[in-house]
Amino acid sequence: MIPDHDFDDYRNRRVLVMGLGSFGGGIGAVKFLVARGAIVTVTDLRPVEKLADSLAELRETPPARLVLGGHQKSDFRAAELVVVNPAVKRDCPYLNAAIDAGVPITSEMNLFWKWNRAPVIAVTGSNGKSTTTAMTYAIVERLVQRQPGRRAWLGGNIGTSLLPQVDQIQSHDLVVLELSSFQLVDLDRLQASPHVAVVTNFAPNHLDWHPHLEHYREAKQALLRWQIAGDVAVLNDDDDDVRCWPVKADRLGFGLQDTGGLGVFYANGDAVVRRKTDEQRWPLRDWLKLPGRHNIANALAALAATVSVGADAACVQAAIENYQPLPHRLQFVGEVAGRRFYNDSLATTPESTEVALAAFEAPIVLLAGGYDKHVDLGRMANQIALKAKAVSLMGQTAAALRELITTCDQQTCEASQPQPSFTAAFEWALAHSAAGDVVLLSPGCASYDWFRNFADRGQQFTELVLRQREASQK
Ligand code: ADP
Repeated sequence: MIPDHDFDDYRNRRVLVMGLGSFGGGIGAVKFLVARGAIVTVTDLRPVEKLADSLAELRETPPARLVLGGHQKSDFRAAELVVVNPAVKRDCPYLNAAIDAGVPITSEMNLFWKWNRAPVIAVTGSNGKSTTTAMTYAIVERLVQRQPGRRAWLGGNIGTSLLPQVDQIQSHDLVVLELSSFQLVDLDRLQASPHVAVVTNFAPNHLDWHPHLEHYREAKQALLRWQIAGDVAVLNDDDDDVRCWPVKADRLGFGLQDTGGLGVFYANGDAVVRRKTDEQRWPLRDWLKLPGRHNIANALAALAATVSVGADAACVQAAIENYQPLPHRLQFVGEVAGRRFYNDSLATTPESTEVALAAFEAPIVLLAGGYDKHVDLGRMANQIALKAKAVSLMGQTAAALRELITTCDQQTCEASQPQPSFTAAFEWALAHSAAGDVVLLSPGCASYDWFRNFADRGQQFTELVLRQREASQK
């Protein structure tokens, strides 16, 4: 097993931060380590121009050295600690150079876990992590408002590093974290045990990073592995895989079908909140404004997690009624010429596109396809063939998706040829839509082939919609 570090004093330690990233993790690690007196080197594959935004955030806590546009093995051997970006494959030659030289490896999240004193509600799963995490936090925020001096904190894979603030987090506060499988691979080495662990669902994903499916599943299961009785595990009982995962903590289920067990289940528009001591029904359908049954499932998970730390109907209602969807998740962009445009750029897995297709009654013209993560797109293609009126195909997976869609037995969907560019894909979708339709960007694939990331893809879509609106107003 790769060793983590066992020292607490970072003063004058040579620390190498590998991968600054665009989502806060690397920056958070640098801020924390520089503030604690470490001699920090940042190394990143990307050149300085591409990292300008991230580097600007480090103006007040600059690293001692930058090695950009590539890595040097000698830096890895010379370090006393390497902080690895979650996206880096753990068998890469640079990390191997560090490991061979006896250099411990950690991550931004492992550093946070080592120093955090507050109980943690941690959310993982293949789909719906961020939404469930954000809803959980919204409820927890209302809960702690009643207790002067207590604070709720939100961080992790959702895009915020709490590491620079870890010293401000008090032991009576509550931390809500979204954790990815990559982060969990490293946390497992610390035997990290969240007070409340939530697993939204499980489906094959990231098989370009994990060597095989079992590795991905074991990474997710790390969230439950080190829990003890008195901790709480919230598991999706609708999910045939997750339902059977081994649990050491007190188990709560959630699901769109009521199993009759302990937890939070959906029945006739109500959330049935069943605890050892009582059962309550809360009118969740009336409270929740988001489209799609998957969002009801996400809300049920958030309810189960927060009820277990003391949330009641009043704070759940206030949080859920006021909850706004996160950007790029079935986000309504606008209406132009009778077409409603939705940005679901964060649909980077086939399952998320399937749930997006199920969330609308109106005919759907879809934009789908993207970077190839080597996951099976067959079921998603079937659903597109059945549910979409037309699909504009993009990116590396366009040709494969077209083949799958056009060879489906049942289909009413017109599939485009692979599009040469995003603008061409958008224009094709527009030309194949009519008033009353939904035009939906829900790619079911990651974005790295044509875009910087999902946010860039969603932003470009939003801009094309706004441009279309301007043109229609002339
Ligand atoms: P994650 O953090 O796991 O990527 P998000 O909440 O950010 O999940 O949502 C990402 C995408 O997945 C969105 O397109 C959203 O519509 C879809 N999605 C959200 N919740 C679920 C769910 N429970 N099951 C399947 N897809 C979901």
